[in-house]
Amino acid sequence: MTDKFPALNNNKIVQQLSTKTPLFWPNPHCLPASEGLTRVGFTLTDVQDAAERLQRFAPLIAEAFPESRARGGIIESEIVDIPAMQHALAQQGPLHGKLWLKKDSHLPISGSIKARGGIYEVLMLAEKLALASGEFSEQDDYRQLLTPYFRQLFGRYKIAVGSTGNLGLSIGIMGATLGFQVIVHMSSDAREWKKQRLRDHQVTVIEHQNDYSVAVEQGRQTAANDPHCFFIDDEHSSTLFLGYAVAGLRLPAQLAELGISVDPQHPLCVYLPCGVGGGPGGVAFGLKLAFGDAVRCYFAEPTHSPCMLLGLSTGYHEAISVQDIGLDNHTIADGLAVGRASGFVGRAMASLIDGCYTLSDQRLSDLQLLLHHSENIQLEPSALAGMQGPLWIGNEASRLSHATHLVWATGGSMVPQAEMQRYLEMGNLP
Ligand SMILES: *Cc1c(COP(=O)(O)O)cnc(C)c1O
Repeated sequence: MTDKFPALNNNKIVQQLSTKTPLFWPNPHCLPASEGLTRVGFTLTDVQDAAERLQRFAPLIAEAFPESRARGGIIESEIVDIPAMQHALAQQGPLHGKLWLKKDSHLPISGSIKARGGIYEVLMLAEKLALASGEFSEQDDYRQLLTPYFRQLFGRYKIAVGSTGNLGLSIGIMGATLGFQVIVHMSSDAREWKKQRLRDHQVTVIEHQNDYSVAVEQGRQTAANDPHCFFIDDEHSSTLFLGYAVAGLRLPAQLAELGISVDPQHPLCVYLPCGVGGGPGGVAFGLKLAFGDAVRCYFAEPTHSPCMLLGLSTGYHEAISVQDIGLDNHTIADGLAVGRASGFVGRAMASLIDGCYTLSDQRLSDLQLLLHHSENIQLEPSALAGMQGPLWIGNEASRLSHATHLVWATGGSMVPQAEMQRYLEMGNLP
């Protein structure tokens, strides 16, 4: 099965992964939050610092992106209940508790979870450069950074990133809005409309015939030879990670507003689609900080690209790829077509992730159509990965009858209508 890793030849989980058998993996290394949190390498203060930075930038975001004004320039998404979807899913297996959808699919600016980390890292960079110029202080009105003086300053710098699509979209739109020269290295599976939208924003798109890891590596090398070029590193960036983590800190207030209480008797189960790991890892970190052991975080991956499950369960992290166990890393789930997980995130979160599971592309399509049909909500295929989670853990203890299941919908609102139609045609209703 794998020549490079003979020690895995009798590994049951790897066998199931390599035959693309959907599976649920409860993480045996998961520790109580109080212990697990000490191993992450970041603290609550780091996430609060990120939240405050986003607050400082809120007036600028509101000015530049009218769709963000309803929340005063804070990039945050709604939580909605999906009773018809819950009813439909409950026909397919035990589902206790109540099902909710976190609509990062409808985040302003780039319509995906990447509007959290990607945009945050661009803002962090802009703030650093502005402060270093001596012409700006943290007490100033951040809208000044949209004026020609600062646009020219930022225009002297390049930002490079490798992406399967959504990260490029977030960094490209935000970077170009501030005046940076942005270069996005796209993997071969990136959608044409995402490339076009970036070019419409004067972003340079470089297409690669290879997969995501190669696109990232190319971006890294371009930047390494140019001192005026910053590389946003999806595989190693703590800034991205902290940008995502802010979501977790905001959740208690959001749930309280909906009258949802979270405590050990009323656990919150969160299902997060996972690509390289930064998005779900960061959000899960923030959630564990906010709720401790009352929250459980599960990562969801396509059967063709289960890089995080593979890395965590074997302990090999980024040293092993899904290709090493004979998988092709081809999936309709855009942001999840990642063959090698971030070792940084895998190690940081190894004792805080409650479990991982896989599901097939066909199942993603079926769930996409079911949500469209039952709730008239349109997501991109990757965003449905979380929807299978409540069924996997539905067989667990009856304590879950008071659970809140939160499916993290990670993208979809910017998918062009014709493309969405083609996606929906791939699904089957039960
Ligand atoms: C990027 C992405 C994810 C996963 O985020 P990672 O940081 O790559 O793990 C999930 N869903 C969508 C739609 C994405 O674009």
